[in-house]
Amino acid sequence: MGDSGPKAGLEPSERTAIGITFGNSNSSIAHVVDDKAEVIANEDGDRQIPTILSYVDGDEYYGQQAKNFLVRNPTNTVAYFRDFLGKEFKSIDPTHSHASAHPQEAGETVSFTVKDKEGEEAAPSTLSVSEVTTRYLRRLVNSASEYLGKKVTSAVITVPTNFNDKQKAALVAAAAAADLEVLQLISEPVAAVLAYDGRPQAKIEDKIIVVAELGGTRSDVAVVASRGGMYTILATVHDYEYGGVALDKVLMDHFAKEFMKKNAGAGDPRENARSLAKLRLEAESTKKALSLGTNASFSVESLIGGVDFASTINRLRYETIARTVFEGFNRLVESAVKKAGLDVLDVDEVILSGGTAHTPRIAANFRSIFPPSTRILAPSTYASAINPSELQARGAALQASLIQEYEAEDIDQSTHAAVTTVPHTTNAIGVIALGGDTAADEVFVPVVPPETAVPARRTVHLSAPGGGDVLVRVVEGNTHIKVTKPEPKAKENGDAKAAKAEDADEEDDSDFSEDEDEEEEEEEKREKVWKIGATLAEAGLKGVSKGAKVEVSITVNADLSVIVTAREVSGKGGVRGTLPS
Ligand code: ATP
Repeated sequence: MGDSGPKAGLEPSERTAIGITFGNSNSSIAHVVDDKAEVIANEDGDRQIPTILSYVDGDEYYGQQAKNFLVRNPTNTVAYFRDFLGKEFKSIDPTHSHASAHPQEAGETVSFTVKDKEGEEAAPSTLSVSEVTTRYLRRLVNSASEYLGKKVTSAVITVPTNFNDKQKAALVAAAAAADLEVLQLISEPVAAVLAYDGRPQAKIEDKIIVVAELGGTRSDVAVVASRGGMYTILATVHDYEYGGVALDKVLMDHFAKEFMKKNAGAGDPRENARSLAKLRLEAESTKKALSLGTNASFSVESLIGGVDFASTINRLRYETIARTVFEGFNRLVESAVKKAGLDVLDVDEVILSGGTAHTPRIAANFRSIFPPSTRILAPSTYASAINPSELQARGAALQASLIQEYEAEDIDQSTHAAVTTVPHTTNAIGVIALGGDTAADEVFVPVVPPETAVPARRTVHLSAPGGGDVLVRVVEGNTHIKVTKPEPKAKENGDAKAAKAEDADEEDDSDFSEDEDEEEEEEEKREKVWKIGATLAEAGLKGVSKGAKVEVSITVNADLSVIVTAREVSGKGGVRGTLPS
């Protein structure tokens, strides 16, 4: 974190701070008004601003205008460069830069050669990826300053969880060169969580959250534990194969084939750079239209050899041809939960973030992976879901408004714990409820949930109906999944199930229903139950009044040592003990 902190701190009173999300495909800027985060539209009216710069006759274009130049001016257009920042040429994946200015080796870094000056004979410039980033950030900040009517000086910027220190340092330096103070870099999934939890009406509760960050060139999934308002990242997975670009490719192939079938002899539009660029832009807009409607058109003027092409596709067909990609997202989410050592039953919320998260099929698939108790926060599954494309920028803006009051040197320290990985408990710590008479009746009451960031202190009140001498046993607990097999009988049951699956899946193609069928067949009950682990401490309270309540407090210190206190509520005395970590 040392490298990602502010370099030259401004006085809090001199700051105007915003939140920035700087993605490979798109960026956004946001600010906070009346405690609410709001994403700012740039001069073109865009809230998702393509992370692209293009140079034409010495003029610099950015965002959607630059993206449009991918058709007519690809060699002077720089796109998909964010992930090259702070990297050496040999460790980058240049795949997505084929249709724009190519990355080149430049010592320790990566550069692009573009004609950014006016005049036929002006020499092209070689710009390092840091310089490109600086120029791009400057444009973003100018748009924000123009909107706010005052100069933006500072920002919280989101970065992927696997951005290393070198990449973070390169980003902070590129921002500084654009005259922008980086208050803090926060991880993308935590920004998405903050966007939800930072809403004025939000209730902060202990929960396990899966953040599925589905962008254009990459998908990142994080499992986050929220305990007492502290966020701990339990596991992350990253994937560069399944993303929005992979969905565009499916549609490009589909329409290219249809075009060739209808126009024999016109050629394959995928083999000509300009035709390919047109195909790509239109495929992306058809894909976005399919997130909203069940039908979308596809139309390109002069796709190849002067031949126009127009067609349509319905959502069902799209979901069928893109099935492999959708299944990739499913596997990614499942593997993240597994990597965190959890079960889908442990997950309270799934936040779908990023542009691709608008896709209804992805949310529907996640709905069927997780139990009904899990909230799937996506536009098609949750009425008050926040626009997935705006989550990160909003979260960054909320964080910025929170910390802009701090002196530069205090920022890192005071906010570190809330947004980065901190030590946390593995198992739950709880007490055996006092009601039961026999060992078989022992019930575990969790006091400190698993994955709680430490230090932490939690208290419970237990009833002691019998009074007298009461023994409080403090134990570790962990959950396990109890599986109950269905009764192996009733043939007609099978038919009923098949009918149910058909009902539920009217919209689906037959391949999907087959899968559902298989799952239905071995339908078994899975539930999360507590397993009582090692006893940590026993506290005996003498002469407790009948019907009184016993208060048990458990404190887990930063070194994971535990302090337990037990006392009768409104009674005298009590027991206190410390356990080493
Ligand atoms: P990355 O860094 O992974 O390249 P990003 O975070 O910069 O991505 P996002 O804006 O989150 O960018 O995601 C961009 C992707 O989302 C693009 O592939 C875009 O086509 C897709 N997308 C945007 N809106 C929608 C929509 N309504 N429906 C489906 N896909 C969409």
